[in-house]
Amino acid sequence: MKDIILATNNEHKVKEFKDILKNLPVNIYSLKEVNVEVDVEETGTTFIENSKIKVQSIYYILKEKNRKDFIILADDSGLMVEYLNGDPGIYSARYAGEHGNSEENNKKLLLKLKGVPYENRRAKFVSAIALMDDEARFTVVEGEVYGYIIEDYRGGKGFGYDPLFYFPGRNKTFAEMSEEEKNGLSHRGKALKKLKIEIEKLVEL
Ligand code: IMP
Repeated sequence: MKDIILATNNEHKVKEFKDILKNLPVNIYSLKEVNVEVDVEETGTTFIENSKIKVQSIYYILKEKNRKDFIILADDSGLMVEYLNGDPGIYSARYAGEHGNSEENNKKLLLKLKGVPYENRRAKFVSAIALMDDEARFTVVEGEVYGYIIEDYRGGKGFGYDPLFYFPGRNKTFAEMSEEEKNGLSHRGKALKKLKIEIEKLVEL
């Protein structure tokens, strides 16, 4: 059986990946679970570039460890707000300075959008997911979902910008949705669905 190794240290992302891929005949591991401790520097200028950088870095580490039969998946994702010309974009995780400080990131976003009417607060989440297997076969896909940044936090689930990301079709923010509901329509869910076909091919090899 092949191992799918998720090139992320974000536990929320790991959970989302595992839920979406749960029907595949593979073992799914986070970096931590395969004893890889690395924080890959995201030096790219697009989500796609960054996801490639992550997957390549992990590929070399796993080869050095002599691991076989693996498929690496790396996601680079973020929020793009139209009124802010696409910001925070690839800097979503460190918008307010410190990497991964969602509370401060959300505060900064609200401040930047202070007084901006609802119709101008359109935004999208984007996820690029790169795949590389043990023979360096490579592919990358993108998924996106549109919504609006609301003025007050709603919901206690999810992570990052979820409590501010309102999805009109369900009259809910992402933080008000169950994991299943969010995965069914999220940027990461959409990208992974595209990639699943490729993964299934590799798993059968
Ligand atoms: P990455 O780990 O460099 O891909 O950073 C992604 C950042 O974008 C996260 O730290 C979040 O701030 C934001 N983000 C990406 N996907 C989501 C999501 O599904 N919900 C909320 N925030 C997200």
